[in-house]
Amino acid sequence: MFRKVRKQLTIFNSVLMGSFLLLFTVITYVSLAWNVYSQIQNDVLDYAKEEAAENLALLKAKTYLRPDFIINEAEKSEMQFFYVFNNHGKLVHSSAPHSGLPRMVNRKIAQGNLRDNQPALITFKHSNHHFRVMLTTLPIKDGPIVYGRIYVGKNVTNLYQIFLELLYTFALLLVVFLFLTTLAGFIMAGKAMAPIKRSYEQQREFLADASHELRTPLSVLLSSVDAIQGDEQNQVTPFSQQVLADMRDEIKKMTKIVSDLLTLARSDGAVLNLMKKQFDLIKVAEQTMRIINPLAQSKSIELRFASPQSIIIYADEERIAQLLLILLDNAVKYTPEHGQVQLLIQQRDQASTEIEMVVQDNGIGIAPAEQARIFERFYRVDKARSRTLGGTGLGLPIAKWIAEQHGGSIKVISQPGQGSCFVVTLPGTI
Ligand code: ADP
Repeated sequence: MFRKVRKQLTIFNSVLMGSFLLLFTVITYVSLAWNVYSQIQNDVLDYAKEEAAENLALLKAKTYLRPDFIINEAEKSEMQFFYVFNNHGKLVHSSAPHSGLPRMVNRKIAQGNLRDNQPALITFKHSNHHFRVMLTTLPIKDGPIVYGRIYVGKNVTNLYQIFLELLYTFALLLVVFLFLTTLAGFIMAGKAMAPIKRSYEQQREFLADASHELRTPLSVLLSSVDAIQGDEQNQVTPFSQQVLADMRDEIKKMTKIVSDLLTLARSDGAVLNLMKKQFDLIKVAEQTMRIINPLAQSKSIELRFASPQSIIIYADEERIAQLLLILLDNAVKYTPEHGQVQLLIQQRDQASTEIEMVVQDNGIGIAPAEQARIFERFYRVDKARSRTLGGTGLGLPIAKWIAEQHGGSIKVISQPGQGSCFVVTLPGTI
């Protein structure tokens, strides 16, 4: 139980810390990248405006100039370049005229999908290299008269690469810190739970000791009542006989509660070990049916049993018998007179060795909202009804514990007013 709570606390802590870390990383990275991106956009725009002003005179004079740079320089990272076109679309001046990157930029320009004053990051592939270029365009004009157009670009491949590597580093750091916070969370959860675990252990030990100590006086009481009832020379009035009989019933109920409490207290402390051996499950089931038969007959409930001839399993015989008794006792208890209770034991399917034990009744049933809770200790759907029927709310938790200790499970399928079906699945190789 504590291991489960510790795991849940650790997961909760990791998810919380992980979300904060992720948020922090994303905000830091995005704001950093956005700042640099905007800075480059501004640089490119400033450069475009500067060159547009310088080239205005050339366009007015209709002078065509030779390029300023050779291609290799234009391909260098951080390098800025420009192209100036006149109104007829003729290239009149550029800083990088030849093949390679400028040629690709030319192609992009020809597509004409760049917007004025809005630099965009564009990727070009050239001889297996990817170039990232911040590209923009501006009309070259003097007042309302347009003389041409300038295209300006800046090669930011290296910077882009740095940011990509920064992204990987951030992702790696995130994973490392997530691992560290999970580890720290696990250790902290263990430390926080230590005192709770100690006091829980003390309570459990007290409960186990108290129930154990109560068993002896109870059995002394029971045998004393038996002795008085059996003493033929004793002159007890019919009234006293009745009182004695009631006392006997109450002592038996109390003995059952004490024994159930002891089972659960010991199971919590893992003091209770299963005594596994090979036995015939069908024989044990038949015996349990015989035990429950008088109770069923007293309510005119029809008991049915369907199973193969024999199923040999390796389990704790006493505990499996206890589990069946709990389910059958409940089925009879919570089924009105003239009802039906059926026990079905079968191999789950041909291929698997799993065994299914199904206890079905057509009694009062259990509402869906209650179905998950009935396996909790002391939980009873209708406390008053359960108490009059001798219920304590400890039966199903013990049944669940037995099934799980054998590596199996228990579930309930039920409809209020229609009946309940408890299915216990046990692995075949138990
Ligand atoms: P109890 O000793 O009260 O029967 P259990 O732990 O065995 O305690 O069962 C818990 C509650 O589940 C019961 O009080 C009852 O309300 C409900 N329950 C168990 N079995 C059945 C059943 N076959 N039909 C209807 N209700 C059931």
